[in-house]
Amino acid sequence: MTFPVIDHDYLLNFLAGLLNTPSPTGFAHQAVDFTENALRAFPALRLSRTRKGALVATRSGQRSDVPRALTAHVDTLGGMVKEIKSSGRLLLTKIGSFAWNTVEGEGCTVFAAKGEPVRGSFLLTKASTHVYGKEVGELVRNDENMEVRLDAQTVNKEDSEALGIRVGDYVAFDPRVEITNNFVRSRHLDDKASVACLLAAVKALSDAGMQPAQTTTLLISNYEEVGHGAAAGIPAEATELVAVDMAAVGDGQTSDEYHTTLCVKDSGGPYHHSLSQRLRQIADQYGIPYMVDIYPYYGSDGEAYWRAGGDIAVALIGPGVDASHNYERTHLEALVATTQWVVAYLIS
Ligand SMILES: [Zn+2]
Repeated sequence: MTFPVIDHDYLLNFLAGLLNTPSPTGFAHQAVDFTENALRAFPALRLSRTRKGALVATRSGQRSDVPRALTAHVDTLGGMVKEIKSSGRLLLTKIGSFAWNTVEGEGCTVFAAKGEPVRGSFLLTKASTHVYGKEVGELVRNDENMEVRLDAQTVNKEDSEALGIRVGDYVAFDPRVEITNNFVRSRHLDDKASVACLLAAVKALSDAGMQPAQTTTLLISNYEEVGHGAAAGIPAEATELVAVDMAAVGDGQTSDEYHTTLCVKDSGGPYHHSLSQRLRQIADQYGIPYMVDIYPYYGSDGEAYWRAGGDIAVALIGPGVDASHNYERTHLEALVATTQWVVAYLIS
């Protein structure tokens, strides 16, 4: 048997499109739609939505005695309008866990509840060096000291409200997608990179005219960044779950931007040993290079599923992403290796 070919252009094109689709947790419907539209190209998939808005795609396998599930998430970090200031600028509350300095100076879109989306940027309240001097470097980057400056003539609260902006509006930070020398640099590679790997795996199998060994469900989850994405949506008949999410790169980590990684333990504790061992054996069998790592400050949808009472084996794999929950970057090699691993798992 020849191993299914991974279409690199498809993978990168889908990924760039998904990255450019704003989807902060709670407002991820456009990214779910984008993914669903791409999956419609594969008529062998049965597509549905959970009531919470996640996408479910099922492909019948050669057998269905031990059905499987994989999950990756399209929701991302973001912000929400906490307060419209008397200056017309906006205070935000974070969606997901990250540090404000990682989005300081970034362009953003405010999805106004009662109007058109409004562009702006996210800045320190004392942003100008010429006015505030060394305070610009020293001010703590907290909720009170950061604000959205709208690209609209607003000088008071009423002006901003007249644009349709209200407390509770979602704010998406610009991803700034750039692909150079097979590096993909963008915000929110967590976890859109893995969603792209799942789609590229589906396409590889489809192009090769192959069927998964077991009936398999893909859950494209939409609430991972706040901890309950895959708490619902994994079919009751599934016997094991592989979560596909980014690997954490940094000092002391084995993960890097050129490899796919098996995570054996994170903040939520160890993953399922025998499923992890089987994934290693599958990667070894197909000559897929991978790292094994532990992520210090990390949780996944696999654990969300377990905590919700899921009673099946759960493992975690994914592409190495540098500067996660910051201005992230990965490399095509990590994406392809992750896709190959998913394909190898599907056909094993
Ligand atoms: Zn993630």
